[in-house]
Amino acid sequence: MDRDRNHTNRRRSSRAAAEIAEEIQVMTAMVLLSDIDPTIILDVRYATENNFTGQVLYPVAKVYVQRVVAERLADVQSHLRQEGCALKVFDGYRPLSIQKKMWEIVPDERYVADPRKGSRHNRGAAVDVTIVRAADGVELDMGTPYDDFSEKSHTRYSDLPVEILRNRQLLADTMKRFDFLPFETEWWHFDYKEWGRFDILDIPIE
Ligand SMILES: [Zn+2]
Repeated sequence: MDRDRNHTNRRRSSRAAAEIAEEIQVMTAMVLLSDIDPTIILDVRYATENNFTGQVLYPVAKVYVQRVVAERLADVQSHLRQEGCALKVFDGYRPLSIQKKMWEIVPDERYVADPRKGSRHNRGAAVDVTIVRAADGVELDMGTPYDDFSEKSHTRYSDLPVEILRNRQLLADTMKRFDFLPFETEWWHFDYKEWGRFDILDIPIE
């Protein structure tokens, strides 16, 4: 009797452990964003010389993020499509070694996370995004280009035409609605609200 009960308990707890392990695996699985939503537009600047470093940092133009982040971005995309718009993603997961390279070029914590602390991009839990018109793919005017490290890129900077303020508001509101937090100095950067659940990684992008 006792032995049976022990056996049942053990089975129950090992099943619970297996479920937890599976959940962890699902929650920490990095996915290719285009596998979750191929309609999201990608413009991976770090795979080109057209970025603030002037160097090609990624060998391929692919965006990886944590699965839950990709699913939330797919929700953002569905929402924007109702507005006649679409989401464009510049960057997602960024290997730690690339972070170190960026830090060598711009050692300013307002714009590049110190690799000793790591960036939320290194966890696959941050994205750089903007909005485009669905009809022709033209970016909405956000007042500055992506990776413009001036005060004008700050989310609180308000000396801008009303149309630009409206565009920034649409981006911020839509991202917040689907669990992303804005970043003070960069209108394009958003952290998934539970970014702390994910580890800093240095798996190369390929
Ligand atoms: Zn960013």
